[in-house]
Amino acid sequence: MDLIIHPDEIFLKGGNQPFFYRCLLDNLKKLFPFSKFQRVESGILAEKFKGEDAERLKKIPGISNFARATKVKSEVEELKKAAGDFVFSADIKTFRITANRTWKGYELSSYELEKRIGDYIRIKKKLKVDLKNYDIDIRLNIGKNESFVYTEVVSGAGGLPTGSSGKVLCLLSGGIDSPVAAYQMMKRGAEVVLAHFQNQTTVLNEVSQKIFDLALALARYQPKVKLIIIPFAEYQKETVKKIPADCRMITVRRLFFKIAEKIAKKERCGALITGDSLGQVASQTLENMNAIYSATDMLKFPPLIGTNKREIMNIAADIGALEISNRPYEDCCSLFVARHPVIKSNIDKILEIEKRLDFSNFKADNFEEFIFKYDK
Ligand code: ATP
Ligand code: MG
Repeated sequence: MDLIIHPDEIFLKGGNQPFFYRCLLDNLKKLFPFSKFQRVESGILAEKFKGEDAERLKKIPGISNFARATKVKSEVEELKKAAGDFVFSADIKTFRITANRTWKGYELSSYELEKRIGDYIRIKKKLKVDLKNYDIDIRLNIGKNESFVYTEVVSGAGGLPTGSSGKVLCLLSGGIDSPVAAYQMMKRGAEVVLAHFQNQTTVLNEVSQKIFDLALALARYQPKVKLIIIPFAEYQKETVKKIPADCRMITVRRLFFKIAEKIAKKERCGALITGDSLGQVASQTLENMNAIYSATDMLKFPPLIGTNKREIMNIAADIGALEISNRPYEDCCSLFVARHPVIKSNIDKILEIEKRLDFSNFKADNFEEFIFKYDK
């Protein structure tokens, strides 16, 4: 089938529109290699699009909506025929026509077009016009040479195409929140690189697989997803040995940021992303977040900070990450969950305790990297 795809916030971009269009086109070509994509006056035309891919298309960042469409020459007779075909195939009694001219130089005004095509369908198909309670809304998008006729418009994820706003490094745990945080950043146009801290000495194969599967799930929406695994056993041992239990979580999360900053610089990422949500767990009180987030100067965003768990879970389910996140996984963080963690940490005390750890010889250039691409 053929689809007409309408981009979302690209319309805000004025003179930069071609760049955003190129980004979206490039992403679509890589994510749906079986279809043919092409920029047209009113959006992007997808030819030979497979119906079973429509669910995934709904979640591709940067798309406002899309619809099954018929491409015709911008001539009244052709528009009539295509509009009539949509009616023919549906069990309906009332209809309306909504015309929209991308090319304002067209010989008829939108109103005149609506009337001409509307009259044809009213008489030929014996249907009634009802502008409010219609069974079908036949939309005409009129370009200079070619036009599109379509009916059911499917909403997309909106936002900006991945890769149009630069790169960020997302700290990915095995939990529910951080994959959603990564997806939300993709929707704001960021290309997301993933970093996962792992206790390489205790990790089981199926547990590693869980992280790979989360990366693969995210690769359904971004053409190429890089995952960096940072072996954390040494740091973990040191922390358990030298840091009191109630402060370990804060110290470890500060350490995550310090290491992540180095990786981010190497990967040319402009910000660090986490799945933090205010008040959700002990490490997410304002006091503790202050202590954790002051570990480095680098820009950091927790995109889910004001999002409720239920809302986060709904997005996780939508993007196909929830069932993966729900698999059991002892990540290196779970080992630092103290029975009575500090809720209001004192940054001076944390800085004092932290001196006991020495990771000055740490290098950010020898981690295992994996590249994920969607292939089905
Ligand atoms: P999540 O559901 O994403 O695991 P959470 O609510 O369980 O989040 P924490 O476990 O305190 O919260 O983790 C907060 C954030 O710290 C995570 O969202 C993630 O960004 C980061 N993080 C935690 N553990 C790891 C890890 N092992 N590797 C990389 N980042 C991690
Ligand atoms: Mg977690």
